Amino acid sequence: MGLTRRQLLIAGGAVSAAIGIPAGQQIAWSLKDFTRPGYDPTPPSAPAGRMAWTNWSGIERATPKQIAVPADEAALADLVRAARGRVRAAGSGHSFTGLVPCEDIIVDVSRLSGLVAHDAQKRIVTFGAGTRLHQAAREMAAVGLAWPNQPDIDIQTLAGSFATATHGAGLKLKALHDQVIGFRFVTASGDIRDVTRESDPDLFAAGKVSLGALGVVTQVTMKMAPSFALRRRVWADRIEALLEQAEELASTHRNFELYFLPHTGLAAAISHDIYEGPLSGRAQSEDDELLLGLKKLRDSLGWQPWLRRKFAEASLPRGVVEDDTDESWRLLSTARPIKFNEMEYHLPHEEGVRGLRAVLKALDRRKETYFPIEMRWTGRDDAMLSPFNDGPRVSIACHAAVSEPYDYFFKDIEPLHRARGGRPHWGKLHSLGYAELSGLYPDFDRFCEIRRALDPDGKFLNPFLAKLFGERFNG
Ligand SMILES: Cc1cc2nc3c(=O)[nH]c(=O)nc-3n(C[C@H](O)[C@H](O)[C@H](O)COP(=O)(O)OP(=O)(O)OC[C@H]3O[C@@H](n4cnc5c(N)ncnc54)[C@H](O)[C@@H]3O)c2cc1C
Repeated sequence: MGLTRRQLLIAGGAVSAAIGIPAGQQIAWSLKDFTRPGYDPTPPSAPAGRMAWTNWSGIERATPKQIAVPADEAALADLVRAARGRVRAAGSGHSFTGLVPCEDIIVDVSRLSGLVAHDAQKRIVTFGAGTRLHQAAREMAAVGLAWPNQPDIDIQTLAGSFATATHGAGLKLKALHDQVIGFRFVTASGDIRDVTRESDPDLFAAGKVSLGALGVVTQVTMKMAPSFALRRRVWADRIEALLEQAEELASTHRNFELYFLPHTGLAAAISHDIYEGPLSGRAQSEDDELLLGLKKLRDSLGWQPWLRRKFAEASLPRGVVEDDTDESWRLLSTARPIKFNEMEYHLPHEEGVRGLRAVLKALDRRKETYFPIEMRWTGRDDAMLSPFNDGPRVSIACHAAVSEPYDYFFKDIEPLHRARGGRPHWGKLHSLGYAELSGLYPDFDRFCEIRRALDPDGKFLNPFLAKLFGERFNG
C-alpha cells in the first residue's frame, strides 16, 4: 500500500491522549471487543493418526490421514493411483476458500520445484509446479526473463496461482495463467499427461484455471517477458479526485491500482511504468505501519466518523509518497505480514467505478472497518474458468483483520457485486455454488464434463468443490 510516513501511528497515539473527555459514546466504543466469535489463533491440533493443515489466515482447517510430500513425479503418480480416498493438492495455502481441505490425503508438491528447462531466446521456461512465484522470478532473472505481471505477494506456488486465476494489476496485462503454454499433470488413475493448446485445446483451456479439480499438476511451461525495470510511484489524494481519474490512469499506466482507506476520505494510487536508467531500489515498505495507524484511528475515533475523517485528513500525507525504480520482480510484489481475510470480486470493466462507490457506501455504515479496499484492472484471457475470459474486469477486494468479523462481506458486499455481474476470485471468500456459477460462465458445464470424464469417482473432490460443481459428496 506504500502510503505512510509514520504520521498515523503518531496521530493515533495523540488522539487517544487528546480525547480525554469521557463521552459516553467514546467509553462504550473503547470497551468494544472487535474479536469475531470463534476466532482461535492457535494452530489446529490433530488427533492420533491424523495430521493438521490450515490455510494462511487460519479459517480453513483439515486433519487429513496424510500430508504427502512426494519426492518426484513418479512417487506422486504412485500415491494418487493407490489412493482409495480423496486427494487434494495444496500449494502455499494462501487461498481463503475451502479448495484444499481434505480428510484423506493432502498432497504438497513443494519438492517438485525449480527451473527444469529454459530457452532464453524463445523466452520459454519450464518449472516444477510447486515453485513459489518469487523463486521463479529469481531464477528467471538469472537468465534474463521475467513475469509480465505479478500479484501483490509472491509466496504462492505456480500451480496454486494458476488454479485460482491469480492476477496482478494492469488493464492491458493478463492474469498469471495466461503465460502457460503447456502443463503436465497426474490424473485420478495415476497416469501422467502432457497438455498443450495444440495437443488438446479443450483440456488446455480447462486446465489453466482448474481449481485443482482435474488432477495434480507437476510441471508448467510458460512464455515469459524479457527482464525489465519499472518506476513505481505511490501518491495519495481524496477518494473523489482519484475515482474521477481512475479509468484514465488505469489506461495510461502499465500497472495501476487504488487503495481506498475507509472512513478517511482518502485513497492511495500505485502506478508502475517501464523505466530505463540507473535503479534507485525500493525503500522498505511501510504498509504495516499504515495498517496499525488506521487500526489505532478506528480504535480511538471510530465512534465519531466526522472526527475520525478530520483527523485522517489532517494527519495523512498527500501527493507523492514513494518514487522508486527497480527490476520488475522486486517492485510488483510486496509482503503482507499482517494477516487478514478477504473477499474479491471481478466486475465487468464498465461497472468498476460504480461498483467501488457502492462498496464504499456500504462500508460507511460499518464504523469498525479500517482495512483498505483494493481496486485493480486485469485484461482478457481465454481460460475456461478464468473470471477475465469475457473481457477486462475490475477487481474489488475487501479485507478484515484475521481476528475480526468478515460475515458482512457476504451480507453487505457480495450482493452488490452479484447485482453487477461480478465473478468471485476462486481463492477468496464467496458463497456461490453450481447454480450461480453455471450462470456466470458460459463454459462451466463443459468444464464439469471434462472434470467428470477425468475423475469419474470424484477422487479430487472435497465438500467445497462438490458445491461448486453441483456434485453430491458422501465423505
Ligand atoms: C496475503 C495474500 C495476498 C494475495 N494476493 C493476491 C493477488 O494479488 N492477486 C490474486 O489474484 N490473488 C491473491 N491472493 C490469492 C492467492 O494468490 C490464491 O489464492 C492462490 O491460489 C494461492 O496459491 P497457493 O500456492 O497458496 O495455492 P493454495 O491456496 O494452496 O491452493 C489453491 C488451489 O490450487 C490448487 N493446487 C495447488 N497445487 C496444485 C497442483 N500441484 N496441482 C493442481 N492443483 C493445485 C489447490 O488444490 C487449490 O485448488 C492472495 C492471497 C493472500 C493470502
